[in-house]
Amino acid sequence: MGEFVDLRNFENGDVEKELDCQLRPIRFTDFAGQTKILDNIQVFVRAAIMRGESLDHVLLHGPPGLGKTTLSNIIASELGVKLKLTSGPVLDKPGDLAGLLTNLEKNDVLFIDEIHRLSPVVEEYLYSAMEDFRIDILIDKGPSARSIQLELNPFTLIGATTRSGLLTRPLRARFGITCHLEYYDVEVLTGIVKRSARILEVEIEENAAYEIARRSRGTPRIVNSLLRRVRDFAMVKGNGKIDIEITKYSLEALNIDQFGLDEMDNKILSTIIDKFKGGPVGISTISTAVGEDSGTIEEVYEPFLIKEGFIKRTPRGREVTELAYHHLGRKNNNANGLTLF
Ligand code: ADP
Repeated sequence: MGEFVDLRNFENGDVEKELDCQLRPIRFTDFAGQTKILDNIQVFVRAAIMRGESLDHVLLHGPPGLGKTTLSNIIASELGVKLKLTSGPVLDKPGDLAGLLTNLEKNDVLFIDEIHRLSPVVEEYLYSAMEDFRIDILIDKGPSARSIQLELNPFTLIGATTRSGLLTRPLRARFGITCHLEYYDVEVLTGIVKRSARILEVEIEENAAYEIARRSRGTPRIVNSLLRRVRDFAMVKGNGKIDIEITKYSLEALNIDQFGLDEMDNKILSTIIDKFKGGPVGISTISTAVGEDSGTIEEVYEPFLIKEGFIKRTPRGREVTELAYHHLGRKNNNANGLTLF
């Protein structure tokens, strides 16, 4: 078994980033899946172009790696405008935001990643910008300080978040278009693997593409990371071509199991079973027991474990399901109607 690799936080220097850019779809036609969202957005974009107006503000929410940044870039390029990219934690003063907003040209897109992490003052400052394309700026200091109102060019704010529940009601209400990105199904992901392999100029067999897709937690970013790693194994341990054998070998070396669960997923499940009798147990207790930030567990690990039926949420906390016991080869001592409540 090889070392544990967290494919969601793959930071392997500039080469990885460059490859990521190469693989990122740039037009609506390259963006796979999420058909309903895509169909609607294409209509809104076309209508905005026909009216010569800015597109209404868009909120994209869903787990990391599902294409929020990609879709925002596509929207901007299909609108024929520029995109400025920033993120909630980076904007700590209203002045930072004012600088960005006043530099936007007509109908440009401002993308704010992790918008749920905006500070309350910056958020409040954003309201009038979003609603009336106007901001107040403070000039001078001391007794002669006064605020003047500045007209902005109309623009589109695209906010991305993994935690829409943490957004305040007034902010959420200012988005005219809200889209929830779902995990991708295996067929769509297989298509993404094949497209990426073509761009990377690596030969891949159909069943190998399917295997990578199947073990990628429904997430295009993981698909692309796994494909690049399998390509490495194919080059070093094989003949360069990606077939099912080298794929299985690589996935095992990367500690990705049959269901696409990685070490942390399995650690969360086994901890709930071994230390908390299968649950229910609170997220902060799980977080301490496995040594992972509770926000990350809630945003990254839990949604997939729930979607795949390994965990369920109850009013008293998280509980593992029969499937989790079966998956880890454990016996459920609470089974057969003896569940302890
Ligand atoms: P997010 O912003 O939601 O975290 P990204 O937009 O950064 O996710 O997507 C991560 C990577 O996954 C992108 O670089 C892109 O290559 C790929 N990707 C995402 N969505 C799609 C898609 N629908 N079709 C093809 N590739 C995609």
